[in-house]
Amino acid sequence: MYPFRILGMALSSLPVGVVLAQQQDSIASWVLLLFTGLLWPQLALWRSWRSRDPDRTERQNLLIDSAIAGLWVPLMHFNLLPSALIATLAVVDKINTGIRGLWLRSLPGMLGAIVLGGVLTGFAFAPATSMPVIIACMPILLIHTVAVSLNGYRLVRRVHYQNQRLDELSRTDPLTGLDNRRQWEEHAQRVLERRHTGLGPATLVMVDIDSFKAANDGRGHAVGDDVLRGVAAVLRDCIGDHGHAVRYGGDEFALALEVDEPRALAIAESIRRQVGALSFVAAPGLHCTVSLGVATASAGMSLRRWMVAADTALYNAKDAGRNRVATPIRDDGADPSATAPVRDGTCEAAR
Ligand code: GH3
Ligand code: MG
Repeated sequence: MYPFRILGMALSSLPVGVVLAQQQDSIASWVLLLFTGLLWPQLALWRSWRSRDPDRTERQNLLIDSAIAGLWVPLMHFNLLPSALIATLAVVDKINTGIRGLWLRSLPGMLGAIVLGGVLTGFAFAPATSMPVIIACMPILLIHTVAVSLNGYRLVRRVHYQNQRLDELSRTDPLTGLDNRRQWEEHAQRVLERRHTGLGPATLVMVDIDSFKAANDGRGHAVGDDVLRGVAAVLRDCIGDHGHAVRYGGDEFALALEVDEPRALAIAESIRRQVGALSFVAAPGLHCTVSLGVATASAGMSLRRWMVAADTALYNAKDAGRNRVATPIRDDGADPSATAPVRDGTCEAAR
């Protein structure tokens, strides 16, 4: 508020000063002008600084601003242009704070000050505005209005930027920056529909960090978070523009890729190798591995069944000893995902 108060008060002092000179006013009025134009903004700043509740104090300061503006109206003998200008800007400033109802709450103080000033001056009334006063009104009219508009513009830009950030945050996982689940499922559904309309292949890769709980327990959750970020970076790097990755939950990731199975297996293998080569500044000597399940979408497959297939592949990789890539087809040639019932999630220990 300080720059706006000093600007507003100093610029308003110009027309008031010219009116006082024309009225050949008393020394007391000039002292009051000096106080409101130069000293009051410093006093207001000091009040806010030393306050235990600066917000509340600043609201009081804003109400005092309006009372000061009101006081000058009768002291200028209701000189029309500067009176209207100063009173209007006082109200506009309150509206621009964005504090609900502040401008309404400022009116009684302003009107009270008008009455008080009127009593002190015997309600002297000389509304005609001379050319020098009109000229003295120009700086406040132009500079203050532009300054307030620029500030409003800056606020609008900031709100716009923050809305964009909110939108981004609602679409991404805050830890890894990968898509969130809703966003990813929409992508995966689109990839699947392309497959079903013959526009291209679709392969799902489920990735799970091996024994992540042990790393988390042994090295701490901050290091665990570093690992999750590191794995996410590898995923992003390896899939390029072939698809979309999501942190599906905990230490599990899913990739919906628009590639055929051999290409997906190559990508999965590259992810496995690159994660194995990751090192972490906060945890020297820590090496992590991932298990990956790769499932190609077959004709008419739903997203749920596709995910069950990739999940089955992932558990084949885990069962076979971790740190490897597997498909749903077991060594005996069976594809359990083809017959596995699709159930809603449970918390059963065994799968
Ligand atoms: P497996 O090899 O069978 O996958 O074993 P695991 O230990 O990796 O799997 P488990 O599901 O037992 O452990 C996953 C752990 O992930 C447990 C949980 O504390 C941890 N975790 C989940 N979300 C986060 C997170 O956002 N940050 C960190 N640091 N840890 C997380
Ligand atoms: Mg795990």
